[in-house]
Amino acid sequence: MDLERYQRQILVKEFGKHGQKLLSKRHVVIIGGGGLGSNSSEILARLGLGRIDVVDDDTVELTNIHRTSIFNEEDIGSFKCQVLEEKLQKINSEVKIKGIQKRVTKENIESIVKNADIILDGTDNMQTRFLINDVSIKNGSPWIYAGVYSTVGMVMGILPKQTPCLKCISQSIPEKTGVIPVLGNLPLTTASIECTEAIKLLLGKSLSGLIIYDIWKQQFEQINIKRNPGCSCCGNEIFEFL
Ligand SMILES: [Zn+2]
Repeated sequence: MDLERYQRQILVKEFGKHGQKLLSKRHVVIIGGGGLGSNSSEILARLGLGRIDVVDDDTVELTNIHRTSIFNEEDIGSFKCQVLEEKLQKINSEVKIKGIQKRVTKENIESIVKNADIILDGTDNMQTRFLINDVSIKNGSPWIYAGVYSTVGMVMGILPKQTPCLKCISQSIPEKTGVIPVLGNLPLTTASIECTEAIKLLLGKSLSGLIIYDIWKQQFEQINIKRNPGCSCCGNEIFEFL
């Protein structure tokens, strides 16, 4: 690994050369390659993860471009996962990038995430998030929940059986239906927070609980939620979405 590329990053005392070397051996699976997932995958490719898989079966549309940094008009009609694989590999040739053209289902999710050190949420619906949560708790794989709505981004790192899972807090995250409003610069900010939590988790550092950021009001809230001992998922191991 060429450390020169990361010269400024390894000067960060929380991170250092040790953190850089550790990240270069880690494998992340990002489910969804849209606003959140494309930005997260770009951030992590630049940061120097070992391997990044991006799972998505959609094509780039004109309506995606306002909230991503990596897609452009020429990419419209191409599969997001293929565009990401090609472009991210040019950004950092030391990272193994794999675009997986699939829709995540309860039948395929376990094989898709089986070698992941961490799973990142780049989805736009609660159904898939609960599926990720189930597989995470069942197999002990950490994951980072992230969501955007209008001007508000939410992020929470989940360490199975140690921190609250999505089901523990699901009452406070209502399902949004229809076309979701999103200010264009919100997913990048939320993805950046998501990636920071992912790196902290991979380096064995403490997570920051539930993070809620309103980019319009410039209000940042950090809530320390406790596990729900009666949680059907992480408490009673009922995996209703799997
Ligand atoms: Zn739970």
